[in-house]
Amino acid sequence: MSQFAEVLPHDVYNEALVSNVHPIDWQNPQPASRYNLVVIGAGTAGLVTAAGAAGLGAKVALVERHFLGGDCLNVGCVPSKCIIRSSRVAADIREASQFGVRVLGEMEVDFPSVMERMRRLRARISEHDSARRFKELGVDLFLGEGHFSGPDTVQVAGKTLRFKKAVIATGTRPVSPAIDGIAEAGFLTNETVFSLTERPRRLAVIGGGPIGCEMAQAFRRLGCEVTLFHNAAHILNREDSDAAEIIQQSFIRDGIRLILNCKTKKIEKKNGDKVIHIDCGGIIDKIAVDEILAGAGRSPNVEDLNLETVGVKYDKREGVEVNEQLQTTNPRIYAAGDICLAYKFTHTADATARIVIQNALFRGRKKLSVLTIPWCTYTDPEIAHVGMYEKDAREKGMEVETFVRPLQEVDRAIADGEEEGFVKVHVRKGTDKILGATIVARHAGEMLGEITLAIIGNIGLKTISNVIHTYPTQAEAIKQVADAYNQTRLTPFLKGLFKKWLAWNR
Ligand SMILES: Cc1cc2nc3c(=O)[nH]c(=O)nc-3n(C[C@H](O)[C@H](O)[C@H](O)COP(=O)(O)OP(=O)(O)OC[C@H]3O[C@@H](n4cnc5c(N)ncnc54)[C@H](O)[C@@H]3O)c2cc1C
Repeated sequence: MSQFAEVLPHDVYNEALVSNVHPIDWQNPQPASRYNLVVIGAGTAGLVTAAGAAGLGAKVALVERHFLGGDCLNVGCVPSKCIIRSSRVAADIREASQFGVRVLGEMEVDFPSVMERMRRLRARISEHDSARRFKELGVDLFLGEGHFSGPDTVQVAGKTLRFKKAVIATGTRPVSPAIDGIAEAGFLTNETVFSLTERPRRLAVIGGGPIGCEMAQAFRRLGCEVTLFHNAAHILNREDSDAAEIIQQSFIRDGIRLILNCKTKKIEKKNGDKVIHIDCGGIIDKIAVDEILAGAGRSPNVEDLNLETVGVKYDKREGVEVNEQLQTTNPRIYAAGDICLAYKFTHTADATARIVIQNALFRGRKKLSVLTIPWCTYTDPEIAHVGMYEKDAREKGMEVETFVRPLQEVDRAIADGEEEGFVKVHVRKGTDKILGATIVARHAGEMLGEITLAIIGNIGLKTISNVIHTYPTQAEAIKQVADAYNQTRLTPFLKGLFKKWLAWNR
């Protein structure tokens, strides 16, 4: 366990977490003579594979070297969303006067309590991923570092597990930014930031992708002075620029200092400060901070698995190579989750685990490419996307028509004071078939489900316009987009015809 960041502080909540996800008194079982499935890695992908396969009657071994639940539970989605919630409360209170609510006295964020709340909730949620639960599900859980030791064997903690099929679900770890002096200065990653108990006064966040942006805004709203460094002209530059711009403006209003398109030359420690030297098109500047949080990419956990000996091809940056059925270059070995996917999300880890169960155990032919993968970045407002961007569709030679509804025109968004954002839906020109959508809204992640369902169910905008949405809701924006599409069907000829009919019937 020593190579892993310790989960701190040692309090009742972290004790409860560890007792669920890596009980210190855990006794690895006696291995079965052979397993249908041996799964290496017990993050979302591994857990879902193991639980699903065992539920279908397979004999399953699950191997985990650190904490069950992997990144999502321990150092990812769960703790980040807990502190984002607290940061939203703080932001709402700061803006309370706009809602006619006066807060008497100074509003204060109690950072240690925010982190304690996060640890309490994470410990509670960890019961779902507990060793005890997986034992009850009939999974043989082995705690220890696993690696392939032969064509059909995995070695863990001195035990040999024989398999018919195996699954690599070893996930990723944070990349250390390639900046001179950063290692000596010291920096936080997602593996250590949730162990903070004191608020850093000045925080530098390196990387303006989803993780960096979520953390930058949360820590700013919790009272840190935050500087966000991003090596492009815009944060969240994979999203449409009109969508990312709304988030960027929100960051500026929050008081986040944005350093865009600059080179981070070096970092040095000086009088207790971490001094970041930057070069912005020839203009040299220095920024002193107390802590640095790196959110600049992920590296796949492919080392030490002995993949060469079992003929599994991989790339140190891209991870394990898989085909459409999620089979590696060794047909008996599959992969699921972040280790083999470009879309690194918990829900894709879950979805690919389900594909692997069918393909590995039942010779299924389920394909990765049939998945419709939505995602959401939980800034405020959130930015959520599914399907194609307009540029993707055009690259594929598809003609696109786009319908946009700004939230400033949606009654509930106005009433809520949450007018920033829009719903944008692309359809194939001349049809109501949805190709993709981007939503920017305070609860965009919740709203996106309707459009994802429509894409999967082949439901077009015409049908969505017939769906009665409760009034007033922000999701009405989706129906209003559908109504806008319907209006385009009213050609001048039809309009003329209706006019004549109505005149005749007066
Ligand atoms: C800060 C942050 C916030 C995030 N927020 C979200 C979010 O809001 N929504 C979302 O969908 N996604 C989010 N993600 C991404 C999400 O956490 C990952 O996509 C998800 O955890 C991937 O699951 P996985 O099972 O593929 O890998 P992991 O969760 O990384 O699990 C892999 C497991 O394998 C184990 N392992 C590795 N090598 C070995 C070995 N040799 N032997 C035994 N065990 C091994 C590891 O210890 C680990 O437990 C976030 C990530 C971060 C870092």
